[in-house]
Parts: sequence; C-alpha cells; structure tokens
Amino acid sequence: MIDLKNLTIEEAHESLKRGEFTCRELANAYLKVIKEKNPEINAYIEVYDDVLDQADEMQKKFVSKTDTILTGIPFAIKDNILIKERIVSAGSKILENYKASYDATIIKNLKKAGAIFLGRTNMDEFAMGSSTQTSAFGVTKNPIDTTRVPGGSSGGSAAALAGDMTLAALGTDTCGSVREPSAFCGLVGLKPTYGAVSRQGIIAMGNSLDQVSPFGKCARDVEIIFDFLSNYDEEDSTSVSDELRDSRLKNQNSNSKKIGVPWHLFKEGIDTEVQENFKESLDKLKKAGYEILDIELPHAKYSLAVYYIIMPAEVSTNLSRFDGIRYGYSAEGENLMDIYKKSRHNGFGKEVRRRIILGTYVLSHGYYDAYYIKALKVREKIKTEIMETFKKVDYILTPTVPITAFKLGEKLDDPVSMYLCDIFSAPANLSGVPAIALPSGVSKDGLKFSIQFMASHGREDLLFEVGKKFETIM
Ligand code: GLN
Repeated sequence: MIDLKNLTIEEAHESLKRGEFTCRELANAYLKVIKEKNPEINAYIEVYDDVLDQADEMQKKFVSKTDTILTGIPFAIKDNILIKERIVSAGSKILENYKASYDATIIKNLKKAGAIFLGRTNMDEFAMGSSTQTSAFGVTKNPIDTTRVPGGSSGGSAAALAGDMTLAALGTDTCGSVREPSAFCGLVGLKPTYGAVSRQGIIAMGNSLDQVSPFGKCARDVEIIFDFLSNYDEEDSTSVSDELRDSRLKNQNSNSKKIGVPWHLFKEGIDTEVQENFKESLDKLKKAGYEILDIELPHAKYSLAVYYIIMPAEVSTNLSRFDGIRYGYSAEGENLMDIYKKSRHNGFGKEVRRRIILGTYVLSHGYYDAYYIKALKVREKIKTEIMETFKKVDYILTPTVPITAFKLGEKLDDPVSMYLCDIFSAPANLSGVPAIALPSGVSKDGLKFSIQFMASHGREDLLFEVGKKFETIM
C-alpha cells in the first residue's frame, strides 16, 4: 500500500526510481481513491480513461533514463487549461463538449517532463467565484468537511489534492483562485509573477491578471512544479524575457528576513480566529529570526474595487468570442442575432452574465473614463506602492483569506460578501508580484488557517525559502 496521505513529489520520484512501485501502481492507487471519493466530493468533472496507458508510457522513461522528477507524477488539471483532443469546458455549459485543438504551453512542458494527467477538475464557471459553486457541473465539496466549500475558483483541483485523489494539481489565479482554495483545503498554493508562466492555451478570464498556478502539499512540491511551468514563451506576448528574469534574480539580498505587515488593511471583516492565528504565526516567525516591520500601502484598500472594474472589463471582452457560432454550444434561433442571444443566455450562468454586463457597462461610452480609466490609474498607484515597499522589506505578509471555509450554499445570494473573500488576493494580481499561501494552523472546528507572503517580481525563490522555513516552525 502506498501511503498517499504523506507522499510528496520528491519521495514518489525516489520510489519510482528505485522501483518500489511503478507509474501504473501509483496512478492506480489514485484512481482507486477517486472512484471511492469523487462521487461525493465532485473534484473531477472527468477522469481520463487512458491514465494507465499514460503511466505505462512514462515508465519507459525510467528504463531509458530520460526521467525527470515529474515523470510518472499524477496531475489534476483545472478545466480551463487546454490539453489536445480532450474536452475543456471552463466549468460552463457553453463549452460542454468543446475539444481543445492544441496543448497549452505548460501542458507541453509537463508532457515532456513525463507527468500523467488524471483528469480535469471542477471550477467556478470561467473561473469566476470563490467557492466552486457556480460550475455548470455541480458543486465541489471540501474533503476536510464535506458540508463546506473547498474555495474557488480552482476548488476541484484543491479538493482532489486535499482528498488524496492526486499528487499534484494546477489551477489558475486571477484574484486568489489558487490561494483561497489552498487556504480552505490546507494546501500550499503559489500565484507566480505575472508573465512568469505562459498563458498560451489557457481560457482567459482577465488577461492582465491571470496566471497558471500550482498547488502542492508542501512548499517544495510547489517549487518543483513551478520550475517546469516557468519559462519564456514566444507565443505569449506578456511572457517575461530571460534577460528580465535574470536581472530580477541578480538584485538578491543575501539575508532575506524582513517582513512588512500592512496592519492598516486589517480593519473590518476579518474573523477573530483568523486574526489570532495571524498573530501567532507572526510570533513564530519572530522567534525564528525574522524582523517584523509596519508598512503602509495607502492605496491597497482600493484593490478590491479596482479589481472588480478591471476584471469584468476584460471578461466582457474575452467572453465575446463565445457567440454560439465559433465554439461549443449553439442555440436554435430565427436569425444570427437570435442565435447569439439565445446561445449566450442559455450557455452562460448567472455570475458570468452579471460580470459581462458589469464589464460592458464600465467600458461603455460615457463611463469608460469614470470607471475603467480611473481603475487603471489606481492600479498603477497600488503597483508603485508595492514595488517601493519591496525596497525596504523582503516580504509582505497578510492572512490569505479573511475567513475560513464556509458552508455550502452560503454567500450564493450575496455576491458582494463572496467578493470580499478576495480582499488579500487582489494586490498581488493587480501589481503582478508573486504570492504564496501557506497552511498556518487549524481552528477549533478543524478548519484550516493560511497566511500569504508576497515578494517582489521574479522572486518566487524567496517565497519557497520562507515557505520551507515556515513549515518547520509551524
Ligand atoms: N474570487 C475571484 C473572482 O471571483 C477569483 C478569480 C480567480 O482567481 N479566477 O473573481
């Protein structure tokens, strides 16, 4: 029996290399758990029927000694990442049977490394949500407490990993969609620097904010996956060049121990338990030799407002391509306009329609300057403040989410309260800096706490360093 609960990527790799188990045995162990748990948890929308064939194929890499640390490692993939000839639906009815015609760049990377794809995971429709309850394919439950949400929008990937239904998982993070489910499911989640990971072959939500983001059971697992995801890609015009990557790393301080805490942001809406856990985490970091400094980010309090203008603007533009003609579902109609209208009305869920309407509004003549342009200006201020702050500190620390995993059904009728979950996520996406969510303890009710470290552009290495350290002092 393979101890899936405690298995890490490194250990799995060593065992595969030593022949303690084969790729097929490892994949089969996960398939068994999926069979047992997925009907209730609904982490996967689809489990691929060729998993064992993939495993046998990858086993050959060990024979020919062309294996990498990811060879034979099973992955769960969010349903908005293209894998050639497989269905990719973004959790939406409008793309229900849509098959990808090519591999996303990151999928090419993972295939080359020898990863195995177990299936595609449930998500909030088009990645819009914080609870995986807006999917057209049912809600996903949190394996830690099945009366609660796993977080979202990448809740399926998080639930798959937390429920031992995979060893590694990918999501996308436009404003916390990997960090928040990591927090609710007790996992590590990294939102990379904007442009570090290619967006080619990802179904776009907000192009200026989206990043493919890995989940892991520990910081080291996330680091391993990130290394395979992150590279310059000429097919993504926002991909960071090799020169810039190198120069960002060269500005290294040798002793990265300064943590800035923006206390002024922690005023309202944060659970007392979350605040207490945050303070306890700070004490532990202090004891471990980190210096804690007060910092001011005067414009960060507008992050959520800015995000909920810029994101819908980008959403309304991106989703205009789903017109009932070019992709997926097409409704019957009397003429072209009627087909457009009916396909979009029936194909998209309520939350997606809400955001398309909001986005169309903020981009419309007469409102464009008042909302969209103003939001872009404030975004610039938020970014500048964060970059200036990183001249004084190595990290910015906040809780990952102001609350713990909430009950299924909660907040569905109150979009604003759902949007408030993103309060600590937004600054990293708006400014493009990387951020990592790390488990920081368990509540009286067995729910998970999490803290978030941000670092300056290109400094994921610092986040892995502090992440690994934090795991030892927890
Ligand atoms: N909660 C965010 C939203 O609803 C999540 C977006 C994301 O990261 N995909 O917009």
